[in-house]
Amino acid sequence: MSLFSPPRYQAPFKPYRREESTPIRLFTSFEQGVKSALFGCRMCGNCILQETAFVCPMTCPKGLRNGLCGGATPDQCEVDPSRPCTWYVIYERAERLGREERLLEINAPLDGARVGRETWLDVVRLWREQEERLNPLDFVRDREKFSQQWDDLFYAARQPDWWQGDSAYHPPAYSEPLSRLEASLRAGTFTVTAEIAPPLDASFAVEAKKVGWLHDHVVAANFTDSASATPRMSSLAASVYSLQSGLEPVMQLQARDRTRVAIAADAIGAAGLGIRNLLCLSGDHHSAGPGPMAKPDQFDLDAVQMLWMLRRMRDEGIYLDGRAMKTRPQWFLGAAASPFGAPPKFEAIRMHKKVNAGAQFVQTQPIFDHARFLEWLEALDQRSLLDKVYILAGIIPLKSAKAAHFMAEEVAGVYIPPEIVQRMDDAGDDKLAQQETGVAIALELIEKLKATPGIAGLHIMAVHWEEIVPRLIDESDLPRPVVRGHAPI
Ligand code: SF4
Repeated sequence: MSLFSPPRYQAPFKPYRREESTPIRLFTSFEQGVKSALFGCRMCGNCILQETAFVCPMTCPKGLRNGLCGGATPDQCEVDPSRPCTWYVIYERAERLGREERLLEINAPLDGARVGRETWLDVVRLWREQEERLNPLDFVRDREKFSQQWDDLFYAARQPDWWQGDSAYHPPAYSEPLSRLEASLRAGTFTVTAEIAPPLDASFAVEAKKVGWLHDHVVAANFTDSASATPRMSSLAASVYSLQSGLEPVMQLQARDRTRVAIAADAIGAAGLGIRNLLCLSGDHHSAGPGPMAKPDQFDLDAVQMLWMLRRMRDEGIYLDGRAMKTRPQWFLGAAASPFGAPPKFEAIRMHKKVNAGAQFVQTQPIFDHARFLEWLEALDQRSLLDKVYILAGIIPLKSAKAAHFMAEEVAGVYIPPEIVQRMDDAGDDKLAQQETGVAIALELIEKLKATPGIAGLHIMAVHWEEIVPRLIDESDLPRPVVRGHAPI
């Protein structure tokens, strides 16, 4: 049990190579004992406690270092219901201590070479290298100077040269739209995207049918990336097939299962194959899958770090490690949002970070409660985010009462008001009547969203019911995709 962080059940990290110096090994053990008792420290060697209200983020089972996941609730962690969500504890303590704005700095992924090692001696080394050294006496003599030098010292400790995370907005460094999706959004057209789950096997027959249904109705289609930790055809392969079939893909790329090397490699490969829209996700934990579960700690980066890395590759022409790229890849970068996960003020912090890191468009979890969705938009507006990112509001047409109950009761981050679940129940046992009720609910929500300022379009997730998408678009009089004047990809 630690004094400041939620309980930690993961073992502390070990260095990848044994430290040869005995005094250093002893010092590391001493540091670990103290930090374990205070912070539940996992000895990640890349301490960011000052940015997380002195709560250790490595006690999050996904190891997220930049904010909560879409499934977090005030009561418990999505992955381990026996413990609170680490990031809720961080947000609440940061709020109490007046340190919310410190939560905006984009924290670096772990440097594997530092993992399992001491950090205190590292801070001493950085202090000795300071041009004008932090002087403890200045705490009394000149508090402003002391604070500045303290901040500089710990910024150097937590932000390595190859990362240099900050809390500023970095607008894209290119002018012409990179994809039809981006062109449509920039033109101000109310833009509709949809979602397709790639095939469960190696045949494209089912995907061909789904692409055919959506082709003339949506600007682009998302291809999910083994969502719920359940393997399907890769998002990359399904996206390439869609591209070749004339439907622009949004390739979902999740951090789970991939190291930073694999993420960069897949994103570069996608750019090389002509895929321009990338949706960057942290991903569901392996415990959401059918099992047997992969070994824990499968997250090398989170979505914010992916966005930061890919944006810098595109706009600054550098790899994560700082090496120059010969040719910059071109991506229109997106992220997911969960308006009904945590309170809007917390979700807005998370969104602020994603936008600062590089998110240009956002697709949200499904909206069933328009009033609460407006509260989330308002929280984003207070952070001046609405003119920096295109928001595509999520719509899920409910296919059955059973699906409504499942989503309302089992899917973290989705909120369906009881009256909507009741309407589905009231449709009776007839499957067709339930479907018609689901369509009617979706059409009502679309009407409200069309008239909502601040959103740029819709993202329709008709899970295994893609043939309903054209009907929703036609009956709600949503604009069909318009091919713009830029070169087709
Ligand atoms: S709910 Fe998500 S963000 Fe919170 S501790 Fe669990 S895995 Fe981490």
